This record gives sequence, C-alpha cells and structure tokens, in this order.
Amino acid sequence: MIIISFISVLVGLSFGSFANMWQYRHHPKLGKKRRQLSNRSVCDFCGRPLSWRHNLPIVSFLIQRGKSACCHRPLPLDYPLVEALGGLIGWLAGQAWWRLVGFHGLFFDLYFWLSLAIVLAMVLLSLIILAYDLNYLLIPIKPALAWLALAIGFNLLGSQIGFVQGLLASIASMSFLVLLYLVTKGRGMGLGDAVLVFIFGWLLGFLGSLFSLWLTFVTGALVGIGLVLVNGKTNLKSLLPLGPFLILSFWLSWPFQWWQILIQWIHGV
Ligand SMILES: [Zn+2]
Repeated sequence: MIIISFISVLVGLSFGSFANMWQYRHHPKLGKKRRQLSNRSVCDFCGRPLSWRHNLPIVSFLIQRGKSACCHRPLPLDYPLVEALGGLIGWLAGQAWWRLVGFHGLFFDLYFWLSLAIVLAMVLLSLIILAYDLNYLLIPIKPALAWLALAIGFNLLGSQIGFVQGLLASIASMSFLVLLYLVTKGRGMGLGDAVLVFIFGWLLGFLGSLFSLWLTFVTGALVGIGLVLVNGKTNLKSLLPLGPFLILSFWLSWPFQWWQILIQWIHGV
C-alpha cells in the first residue's frame, strides 16, 4: 500500500505538470501560435527552453522561490497549485483503484490492468480540465468527453454502481446543475460543469453524486471565504470556477465511499 501511494503521488505530480503545459498550449485564442513555436518546454516569458532541473513539479518552484530560472520573473501560482493537486488526486486515484478493484491473486487479470489504465487516464484528463478551467474559466469539451467515455467504460467493466443507476444518477445531477445554471443565469458556473457531474454519476451513483455535490459546495464556500479574508475582495463569483471544486470533490469522494460509512453508521444507531 505504501508503494502504491508513493508511485501514485509521483504519477499525479508529473500529470499535474503535463496539465499545466497542456493548458498553456491550448489557450482558447493563442493556442495554435504557442504550439507552433516549440515542441519543447520553454519559459512563458522569454521563450528560452527549460532544462529538466527547472521542470520538476513543485521542487523547482520552491528552489527558484517562485521565479523563472532564466529571467527571474514571478511564476503564476497556479502552476505549483495544479501540480500539488495532481499529487493529491494521484494519491486518491491510487486508493480508489486499490479499494474498488484490488488485487485478487491473479497477476494476469485483464480487469486489474484495464481498470488501472482507465483510472490513470482519468487522472490525467481531470488535471487537464482542472488546469484549463482554472486559467480560462472554461471546461475543454474534448477531454471531458474522453473522460465520460472512460467513466462509462469503468461502469460497464463491473463496478458496484451498475448501468441503470449510473445513467440515472448522471441525468439527475446534470439536471440539477442545469437548473442551477438557469436560476443563477450562468454566474459562477457554466454548462461545462453540468457535463462534469454527468461523468461522475457513472462512477458515484446516486448517493455518491449527492455526497460529492455537497462536498463541492462546502469546499467552494470555504475557499471562497478564505480568499475574501486574504484578499479582501467581495466579488469572487466571476473569479472562482466551479470545475476544480467539482473535480476535487469527486476524487475525495470516490475512493473512500464515505456515504456507505454514513449509511452503516445510521443503521447501527
Ligand atoms: Zn525566462
């Protein structure tokens, strides 16, 4: 278990680093230009190529004290933030895979490896979407659709959720967010967020989706209040995208199935 935790954190950190690069190269307007310039990692400011030493997740940021190594300009905080969330999400995904699939003594079990590949791909896609939404307040549709396909695949492979519950939970939580979107007239959230919860329904089921949505609004409110206290800004609605909270809450919910523990506890009382 310790080995799996260690590896999954490292994988998550590097996926976070990749997600930062991906969002930079897929800027809604400048993306094409940026991809043509170079296929290596370059400095955002002066365009000089970065060596591997300046590209280590979080470590480089700390050593360089938040400044670029070449031209010493302050790096955006969301780089190490996405990398750190990558480490956390990687760890959670490792837990999910081990708890929900697990090792059944057969090393050549197809389900064991196929589910691992799906979970790894889901980590990468979730970080790409998270980094993108954090920067442009938009959910990139292609990675979201790819994640949806994987989620349905995982559901069909034989999760405890089952196809019917997955489908109905997805539709229910998507309808809830669409309703919220219409009521708030699109402030603070977009329709992309409704696509995200449609993905999660296939993996979480009814109670899981409910729990995850609750966690989203709790964490969102806490971070929102925290930012108001730190910055003194009052109008945060336009600044805080919902997507990263939805994604983080999903990963916090999925591995441990807290709602099951809650149900058992209620039954026990
Ligand atoms: Zn530079």
